[in-house]
Amino acid sequence: MPVYTAPRRDLAFVLFDLFGADKLWSAMKATAEVDRDLAEAIIDAGGKLAESAFLPLNASGDAEGCRFDSGTVTTPEGFRDAYRTYSEGGWVGLGGDPEHGGQGMPKMLTVAVEEMFFATNPSLYLYPVLSAGAALLIASHGSQAMKKRWLPEMYAGTTSGTMCLTEPHAGSDLGLLRTRAEPLDNECHALTGTKIFITGGEHDLADNIVHLVLARLPDAPEGSKGISLFLVPKFLEDGTRNAVTAGSIEHKMGIRGSATCVLNFDGARAWMIGEPNRGLACMFTMMNYERLSIGMQGLGAGEIAYQNALAYARERVQGRAPIAEERGEGAADPLLVHPDVRRLLLTQKAYNEGGRAFSAFVGLQLDLSKYADDENEARRAADLVAFLTPVAKAYFTDRGFDGCVLAQQVLGGHGYVAEWGIEQYVRDARIAQIYEGTNGIQAMDLAERKTARDGGRMAQAYMEGMAAFIADQRCPERLRPGLEEALELFSRCTRFIVDGAKKDPALPGSAAADYLELTGLLSYAWLWAWMVGVAEGKLAEGSGEEAFMRGKVATGEFFHARLLPMAGVLARRIESGSEPLLAISAEQF
Ligand SMILES: Cc1cc2nc3c(=O)[nH]c(=O)nc-3n(C[C@H](O)[C@H](O)[C@H](O)COP(=O)(O)OP(=O)(O)OC[C@H]3O[C@@H](n4cnc5c(N)ncnc54)[C@H](O)[C@@H]3O)c2cc1C
Repeated sequence: MPVYTAPRRDLAFVLFDLFGADKLWSAMKATAEVDRDLAEAIIDAGGKLAESAFLPLNASGDAEGCRFDSGTVTTPEGFRDAYRTYSEGGWVGLGGDPEHGGQGMPKMLTVAVEEMFFATNPSLYLYPVLSAGAALLIASHGSQAMKKRWLPEMYAGTTSGTMCLTEPHAGSDLGLLRTRAEPLDNECHALTGTKIFITGGEHDLADNIVHLVLARLPDAPEGSKGISLFLVPKFLEDGTRNAVTAGSIEHKMGIRGSATCVLNFDGARAWMIGEPNRGLACMFTMMNYERLSIGMQGLGAGEIAYQNALAYARERVQGRAPIAEERGEGAADPLLVHPDVRRLLLTQKAYNEGGRAFSAFVGLQLDLSKYADDENEARRAADLVAFLTPVAKAYFTDRGFDGCVLAQQVLGGHGYVAEWGIEQYVRDARIAQIYEGTNGIQAMDLAERKTARDGGRMAQAYMEGMAAFIADQRCPERLRPGLEEALELFSRCTRFIVDGAKKDPALPGSAAADYLELTGLLSYAWLWAWMVGVAEGKLAEGSGEEAFMRGKVATGEFFHARLLPMAGVLARRIESGSEPLLAISAEQF
């Protein structure tokens, strides 16, 4: 039976011991009412719901999957009740607009909640998490009437939301999409076309669904400059069905309780959001939100896999401890005594806890970009959000998937068979590297758009924070050389990409994946140094929780000793340029 305990203590460490979130919140008008007690109560309640309502349905939802019959989708048994409990608890609108029934909680807090629900049941959680993203889009770009009409229902969970971008011939390249929008009357357009792979496109959890759909107007320019955005309800105001139907659902490797639908629009009534041909820019509000959320799916997967692998490694006995004094009375010792098993588990722990700190940092920047009184601070935070969102999406999901595979290794053959649940985590985590913009596309976004085309300006702002951390003597002395070296490598690689791209247009794409990984690694190294310093401070104060704080210090030291050295390899790969990738012709493959 899979185990999961919400990481309440670690979340509190990150939010309050590391970042002093309560002071940050009280300094911003929009979040002034959020204090530590409230935040801890929300995390505790979210954790309990995840443990008690989401976790028990994870394996059964996977085994049963969604069923499709003549345009209707039935979700696995128990999903409806759990979804109702979740919605009635106000969780869909946790970060939503308070003017329309949302609770306006800071993103720094909502990412913590997302991690727990994604960990315990990613299939079920995808339904409300897409609704929250769709509601954010409507709150940011919809008309007043649209907000009034849809947001309260979406926050209440009685209407859910989708994001309809992908078409059979248009995936990463949305400029190719063909769904047409013809003017119908003063109010509406008629939408015609087929979208594929639409998460939650049809289901039995909510009374209504609003689809946010990208389409082209008749006179639209070619490519991504000719895309408009529309809201298409499943049911119209008079209760009749709109002309949008699910054609089928996909049979897939994981997240089998999440309905992935083909949606056919046959002249569906559609309301435009934002300006004609400016739809992609509006859609990015939702995509950026979902990118960080999907990052949390990766992090959550890594955490639940780790917890189960750790529990197993404590119980399972095989072989003898290498150090004689550590050997027990029985014929064999627990797996946890073996250095190689510790390597597997510590790698997971170091990535999970580093990722948790990084997610709160990116969440904080999102809050500052929205709510900081000081304009310069808000602008600086917006730059950091732009720079770090692709990193959070791709690095969390890559490390989360790796973590699931490492956990599988801890269980040996028992990790490969279904009984222990780890193989489901591996299957479920894989999609997060693919959807919401593949991790390759995230890397291109970082290396090309956010670095080469930006002349390295955002990267510079990002480095300044870390340089100040070192200059202010906040980095534990023994970790400083490693952090400085990684920062220097990052700075050198950034310059290499910015300068090289002027002569070689293939350079950003060639460097992209390694550059994103280097950025993630450096971010974690910085946050780990910071966390080690905080934990040592607590130990020196003698403020209790000795085991927790010592574990923090040891894990940070492990990260710096065993994982950070990869920065040198990544830099060498980046600096090898495009030549090794382009030298081979298409025929020579
Ligand atoms: C389970 C599931 C749920 C999904 N949910 C949704 C949803 O709710 N809404 C929605 O709109 N879509 C959804 N998708 C679609 C998903 O976002 C796309 O599959 C994804 O964006 C990739 O598009 P593609 O599959 O067409 O691959 P392609 O775009 O064909 O890409 C194939 C490969 O080529 C690479 N590649 C493509 N272009 C470039 C480039 N310019 N530079 C470098 N590499 C490149 C990609 O990184 C990838 O590795 C979902 C997909 C799945 C499987």
